[in-house]
Amino acid sequence: MKITIIGTGYVGLVTGACLAQVGNHVLCIDVDADKVAKLRRGIIPIHEPGLSAVVREGIAGGHLTFSTDIAAGVEHGAFLFIAVGTPPDEDGSADLRHVLAVADAVGHHICRPAIVINKSTVPVGTAHKVRERIAAALRERGENIPFDVASNPEFLKEGAAVEDFMKPDRIIIGTDSEVVRERMRALYAPFNRNHDRLIFMDPPSAELSKYAANVMLATKISLMNELAGLAEHLSADIEQVRIGADPRIGYAFIYPGCGYGGPCFPKDVRALEYSARQHHYEAPLFAAVEGVNNRQKQVLEHKLVAALGEDLTGVNIALWGLAFKPNTDDMRDAPSRVLMEGLWCRCAQVQAYDPVAMDETRRIYGERADLQLCTDPLRRLPGRRSTGHLYGMAIVPQPRL
Ligand code: NAD
Repeated sequence: MKITIIGTGYVGLVTGACLAQVGNHVLCIDVDADKVAKLRRGIIPIHEPGLSAVVREGIAGGHLTFSTDIAAGVEHGAFLFIAVGTPPDEDGSADLRHVLAVADAVGHHICRPAIVINKSTVPVGTAHKVRERIAAALRERGENIPFDVASNPEFLKEGAAVEDFMKPDRIIIGTDSEVVRERMRALYAPFNRNHDRLIFMDPPSAELSKYAANVMLATKISLMNELAGLAEHLSADIEQVRIGADPRIGYAFIYPGCGYGGPCFPKDVRALEYSARQHHYEAPLFAAVEGVNNRQKQVLEHKLVAALGEDLTGVNIALWGLAFKPNTDDMRDAPSRVLMEGLWCRCAQVQAYDPVAMDETRRIYGERADLQLCTDPLRRLPGRRSTGHLYGMAIVPQPRL
């Protein structure tokens, strides 16, 4: 099948490479010319286990190509995936600028029937908006080319994205069309072999499904962090308070830590909260989940201050773990950034290590005197006082040297 992916980031690249691997002809489009040039040479701009091999195989077999030419992309695919970013706007709403720009481009260039599939995480009603934008562009052109818009939210996890795409636990398709259902079933057949993972529903329900999953996981994290904070006041050990054995609760996402981050949970919780506000529906839980998380990101800094004082001038802090989670170099909304920036405001020095996110950290912060990125996770930089240690994200303060 001929497939076009528009937006070749984490989601788009994984989707394109995996769909190419099962024999489709996939053209990945991106506005970032540098990224496209690198991908054409088989250079993967992100750290994602297993992705490099799948991309190179796709390129070598002629099943996977890259371009910045959106017109060629729209012409190529009978399936047009939208996988561009939906960053948060200042008010918390999802910024749909990129999604709607793609919809306009599809409307301007579409020349034969196609299914437009939205993989980006978008508020309820976006499939409808995308349909309207494409229809408006077609009207302007005086053309009447049939097209469909389906919602197909993505549930892959960074760090295990290829595995998740190849063996999904569910594939959600939001459509009202029987024809689209059958074509999507055929498209996903290679990933849907030993039991049926396809779940069909109407587009608004599909769009909400993604937010519902993320807010549920974020809620579990915030609840555990809230319990951990309380446990400290009660002289209880949260590490011993393990509630996962109860099958109604489960073992996933019940570990307290430094707060959730990354490209999805923070923005998606805020977008859902915004959406509730827009519809005059009181949803205090969403704001509470976010509030607890924001407080949690400050906890390590507050513990350091409690141990070492407000002014950390000349204090050297070791920090292990920079990306928002293991096995990725994604630093978007990473709790480490809140911690480092807080420490720098207190004039501390940070000596940091991450197995894969060092280049990304350097790209974000550049060279600065109060950040040393260490190639060895355990080596203390010569001539530096080591006053506090953060093991992973657990702090073990030591006396000032
Ligand atoms: P990303 O920022 O890594 O990639 C988006 C890409 O789209 C970028 O390469 C950008 O250059 C490109 N782009 C922007 N406008 C474009 C346009 N008009 N035409 C072509 N390309 C354009 O984002 P991502 O992490 O892949 O996320 C994409 C969407 O998927 C978001 O809505 C996100 O919430 C959702 N999502 C992300 C994950 C994840 O773990 N990263 C998981 C599930 C869903």
